[in-house]
Amino acid sequence: MAVLNIAKGLFEEAKRYIPGGVNSPVRSFKAVGGYPVFVKKAFGSKFYGECGGEFIDYCLSWGALILGHAYPKVVDSLEKAIKKGTSFGAPTILETELAKLIAEAVSSIEQVRLTNSGTEAVMSAIRLARAYTGKNKIIKFEGSYHGHADYLLVKSGSGQATLGIPNTKGVPRDFTKHTIVLPFNDIKRLEAAVKKHQKDLAATIVEPVEANYGVVLPKQGFLEGLRTIADKYNIVLIFDEVITGFRLSYAGAQGYFNVTPDLTCLGKIIGGGLPIGAFGGKSEIMRLLAPLGDVYQAGTLSGNPIAVTAGITTLKELKRMNPYKALEEKTQELCGSIRLSAQKYGIKVRVEHIASMFSLTSDLFKKLYHGLLKEGVYFSPSEFESNFLSAVHTEDDIENTLQAVDRVFKNMRR
Ligand SMILES: *Cc1c(COP(=O)(O)O)cnc(C)c1O
Repeated sequence: MAVLNIAKGLFEEAKRYIPGGVNSPVRSFKAVGGYPVFVKKAFGSKFYGECGGEFIDYCLSWGALILGHAYPKVVDSLEKAIKKGTSFGAPTILETELAKLIAEAVSSIEQVRLTNSGTEAVMSAIRLARAYTGKNKIIKFEGSYHGHADYLLVKSGSGQATLGIPNTKGVPRDFTKHTIVLPFNDIKRLEAAVKKHQKDLAATIVEPVEANYGVVLPKQGFLEGLRTIADKYNIVLIFDEVITGFRLSYAGAQGYFNVTPDLTCLGKIIGGGLPIGAFGGKSEIMRLLAPLGDVYQAGTLSGNPIAVTAGITTLKELKRMNPYKALEEKTQELCGSIRLSAQKYGIKVRVEHIASMFSLTSDLFKKLYHGLLKEGVYFSPSEFESNFLSAVHTEDDIENTLQAVDRVFKNMRR
């Protein structure tokens, strides 16, 4: 009870000065109720709350921390970097190094530009695709999140190919009129829409695995179909790999599924836990960017040496360790056992997973969530968000999580 009062106090104090007490809405626990855990510190697979408590973390800064929290090599590299200055507004060889690591890893990328967030990367990639084609309209898919740019905050509720209606206040209807929203995994509907709008269609943007609507896998042939249609009708295919980049494989989702987009957006993992984004593709398209071309794009802190250092260390470490197979196996083990445990107690949950990402959806999600939280297991605080494993989650972490899940399901049955 005392702990709960402290938690409440922290949240109330935050809410006085920050709208809703948070700097990004999903952190607020609105979807699951109760008070968010204020984090005091974190190491490896665990974080520690301001009100006490130790949590096995499966949110991992929304997937950014594939090496877990405060990974020693990342921390060491950051300590050294900070002492040499934190921002210059002039080029560094660090930026070249990160760009080279990205270009070597991701097959579609010859050149890459760094931004400060995934949102910026997506906005810039779309601007570039529009300039390259001289066209305006873009296609996105239902349930996909591409950051919070005005014209991308659109979802079609109707299940019909509708021209965009903003699903947030503050966005003029006019700003979304070039956004076409289609159901994910429906290639027939896509081709019909492309035919209809081809005169003014610049790009299709897709999360190769949807991760912001539960984890939704692309059906066999869907991504290949996007590629074929983009080629046939001369539209730019953009993969939003802000989550899947360096997550599904070192070569991203495009390496995992062997489908090559024209432009790729990155973020999260490439910043090793610091703010970053990036977009890249063939030089033929990228050279339209200022200062070479007429497409303006910029950022005071873009390519920030501290963020870039964390990114370089993270990517080098991923390349050295190649943790992807082990991560996939661990995730499979976790998800398989969660399903079995749910069956045992007759609890309906839907578990989806690929590589080291997974989602649990259930009518009883709130109950499940708070049960797990009490047991010291922290999932992303919404059933529509993905959860992640890191390379430093141990067999013990998995075992302890499974025991917690089993106890929670057992209690839920009563
Ligand atoms: C997180 C995310 C973004 C936005 O990145 P920010 O750094 O939060 O701006 C864009 N696309 C996808 C798929 C994401 O998961």
